[in-house]
Amino acid sequence: MSDEPFVFADESEESSTTTAEAWEILIVDDDQDVHDATIFALKDIVILDRKLQFSHAHSAEEAINYLKHHSQTAVILLDAVMETDQAGLEAVRIIREELQMEDVRIILRTGQPGHVPELETITRYDINDYKTKSELTRSKLLTTITTAIRSWEQLRRVQNSRIGLEKIVEASNQFIAARGLHTFAEGVISQMAGLFNLEPEGIVCASGILPGEEGPVFTKDGDGELYVIAAAGNYSSMINKNVVSLNDSRIVDSIRTSIDRQTTILGPDSLTVFFRENSGRVYATYIASPKPLKQVDQYLLEVFCTNISLCASNIELVNRLKSQAWEDQVLHIPNMTALMEEIDRRSAGPCKEEELLLFVDIASFSQINDLLGHDYGDEILRSLVNKLKELFQNRIYISRISADLFGLVGSREIFTGEVLEELKTMEIETSEGTRNLTLSIGVTRLCKKDLPASSHLHNAFFSLKKAKERGDVIYYNEDIGKQIREQIQTLHDLREALYSEQIFLAYQPQAEMEDNDIYSLEALLRWRKPDGTMIPPDRFIPLAEQSGLIVKLGEWVLKQALTDLKEIHEAGYPDMKMAVNVSVIQLQHPDYIRVLDQIIEESGIPPGQLELEITESVSILSLEHVLKLLGEIRDRGISIAIDDFGTGYSSLSTIDRWPVNRIKIDKSFIQTMDQHGGRIVDMVIPLGEQLSMKILAEGVETEEQLEKLKDLHCSEIQGFLLSKPLPLKELLLWLKERVGK
Ligand code: C2E
Ligand code: MG
Ligand code: MG
Repeated sequence: MSDEPFVFADESEESSTTTAEAWEILIVDDDQDVHDATIFALKDIVILDRKLQFSHAHSAEEAINYLKHHSQTAVILLDAVMETDQAGLEAVRIIREELQMEDVRIILRTGQPGHVPELETITRYDINDYKTKSELTRSKLLTTITTAIRSWEQLRRVQNSRIGLEKIVEASNQFIAARGLHTFAEGVISQMAGLFNLEPEGIVCASGILPGEEGPVFTKDGDGELYVIAAAGNYSSMINKNVVSLNDSRIVDSIRTSIDRQTTILGPDSLTVFFRENSGRVYATYIASPKPLKQVDQYLLEVFCTNISLCASNIELVNRLKSQAWEDQVLHIPNMTALMEEIDRRSAGPCKEEELLLFVDIASFSQINDLLGHDYGDEILRSLVNKLKELFQNRIYISRISADLFGLVGSREIFTGEVLEELKTMEIETSEGTRNLTLSIGVTRLCKKDLPASSHLHNAFFSLKKAKERGDVIYYNEDIGKQIREQIQTLHDLREALYSEQIFLAYQPQAEMEDNDIYSLEALLRWRKPDGTMIPPDRFIPLAEQSGLIVKLGEWVLKQALTDLKEIHEAGYPDMKMAVNVSVIQLQHPDYIRVLDQIIEESGIPPGQLELEITESVSILSLEHVLKLLGEIRDRGISIAIDDFGTGYSSLSTIDRWPVNRIKIDKSFIQTMDQHGGRIVDMVIPLGEQLSMKILAEGVETEEQLEKLKDLHCSEIQGFLLSKPLPLKELLLWLKERVGK
C-alpha cells in the first residue's frame, strides 16, 4: 500500500486560489467611513490561499439578520458602540447564545478608548480581539484578521471532523447491520456521499469476486478482473458487470490505479476510495464529484477508509458465521435450524400438496463410529446423503439434525409407502466397498398449519422412537404422541424419585437344585409412587437406559445391594451372595470398572460374593471389548451370569468365548416348557454343562416345572415357587423362617 493515505490524481490541474471559496468577512459599523477604510486596507489581500469577501451591516440588528443566513462567516469586525453604547456587546451575546455561532471570530472595534468591556465579558463571549479603531493600522488589521481566519478554520475543521466522525460511527453501525456484500457496498457509496457532501453517484468494484445469481461469489485468488458489486445513480446498470464494460476510461483508470497502487485517489472531479479486507480482497469505490475535493478532510478520509476495511472484513466473518448457523459443517447440507425455517416456510403458504417430514436414523451408527473410526463414519454419512440426493434427484429437502439423524422433507407423492419401505435398507458405496445400512424412519405430516416447526420435529422424533422399537416405518398419530409424552413424564418423575424413598430394592432368593440351599439373592429395582402405585422395572428401566440415567441408578443399586448384603451377612447368613443386574449402557461407560471397584471396596464385601447379571445385548459391543471388560470383572473374583438367556440374538457359540459362570434361562422358556420352550431348555442345559457353566432356571412357578428341571440336571432355580422378590425386612423374616436362624 502507498505510504500516503491517499494521493491527488493530478496536482498540476489544481488552481487553489481560483477555485477555493473566499473567506467571508462581515463589517459591522454605523460609520460608512469605517467600511470604506477597511475595504481599502484589505482589498485584494489573500490570506491562506484565499481571497476575502466582504459583507456590510450598519447596525447590530442588521448584522444579526445577516448572520442568520450566513453561517459560513469567518470573521466579524464589529463596532462596539452603535445604536446604543451596549449595542455591539449585545450583538455578540446574540451571536454566541441565540444564533449559536460558536466558531465565528469577532474583532470588537471602538472609536472611544473609554468603552472597554470587562475582561470577563471578553472571555465569556469569546471575543478574539478588542481594538480601538485608531490602533488598527493596515498592517495590524491584516495580522489580526489573519489570526482570526486561521483560528476560525481550525475550529471549523475540528467541528467538521466531529460531524464526520459521528457520520463514520453511524455508518459503521449500518455496515455491521448490512447483510451481505451488496448491501454493504451500496452503503459505502451512500455513506461516502453523505460524508463528503456529494451526490450518491458511483460504483464499487472488487477483486476476487465474480457475479453470481444470488449476489457476488468470492473466488479464491481472483482473476485480476474487477467486477462492479454495487452501483448508484447513472451507474446503476453496471451492477455485476466487468468494470471495463463501463466504456469510460477515466473511471476505469481511476479504479485501476487505486487498486494497483492500493491507495485512495482524489481526482479533479471524483474521489476513488480504496479499501481492503483481512482476507486480502481489495475494493475501490468511485464516486463522482462536481467540484474538486481538495478540501476533503484528509484525516476523515483516512478514518473512513480504515473503517470500511474493517467493516468489509466483518461481512465475510458474518457470512461465515451465518453459514455455520444454518449449515452442517461436515456434510454441507442444511442443519436443524435451517430445517425449522424450511418447515415454517412451507407450512406458511396454502397447503397444496401433502408434505411429509421424515426423521431417518442409521441403525448402530455409533458402533460403526466406535469400531471403524469417525472418518469412516463421516464417509458413510456423506455417502448416504449422496445416495439420497441421487435417488430423489433433488426433489426433496435433506438436512442433518444430529450425528446420524437426518430430516427429510418432500411431498407424499415422492415418499410413497413403497418408497419408504425400500428406504429401510440402503446400499451405499464407501472406500471399503459396498455397505448395507438399516434406516429407521419416523414420519409426520406437515399440513397442520397451526403447529410450530418445533412441534413437527417432536412428532417426527416420536414416530422415529417407535420406528426403532418396532423396526417399521411409523407415521405419527395422537396415540404415539400420548405414549411418548407419558414416557417423558415417567422419566422426569424417575429423576425426581431417584434419591427418595420411592425407589428401593427387593430381593429374590436363588436356590441350589441339589439341596435347596439359598445361596444367593437377586436385587431387583422397585418404584412405588407417592400415591402407592408400583411402576414395573420393565417400564422405567428402558427409559433410564435411553436417557443415560441408568448409570447413576445402577451405581445406587450396587451400593444399596451390597450395604443390605452386609446386614444379611450380619444377620447370620455370611455366605449369602448377591446378584445385581447391569445394563449394557453401564458397561459401556468408561468409568464402569473404577466405580465398581470403589463401591465394592467401600462395602467391605468380598468380590467373590457378588455376581453381575448381564444380558445378551452386550454382544452389540465388539468381541474384543466384551472380552476385555468381562475379563477385568472376572479377574476381581466377581462372577458373571447371562440373564434372560434365549431371548436375545446371540447363540451359545458367541457366548462360549465370554468368561461367564452362569446362564439364566429366561422364564418364558420355563413357563412354556411343556410346549416349544422345552426344546430350548433341553438343549441349553447339557451345552452349559459342557462349557462348565452353571444353569439357573428363572421364573419357576410350579412343582412340575421344578421336577422337570431336576430331571434335566439344571443346577439352580429362582422363581415364585421359592419366593417373590421381597424387601429387606421381609426377606430377613423369610430367611429366618426357612433356614431357621
Ligand atoms: P430379570 O433380571 O430377569 O429379573 C427377573 C424378573 O422376573 C423380575 O421381574 C422378577 O420379579 C420376575 N420373576 C421372578 N420369578 C418369577 C416367576 O416365577 N414368575 C414370573 N412371572 N416372574 C418372575 P422384575 O422385578 O419385574 O424385573 C424385570 C426386569 O427389570 C429384570 O429382569 C431386569 O432385567 C430389570 N431390572 C430389575 N432391576 C434392575 C436393576 O437394578 N438394574 C437393571 N439394569 N435392570 C433391572
Ligand atoms: Mg436378572
Ligand atoms: Mg431374567
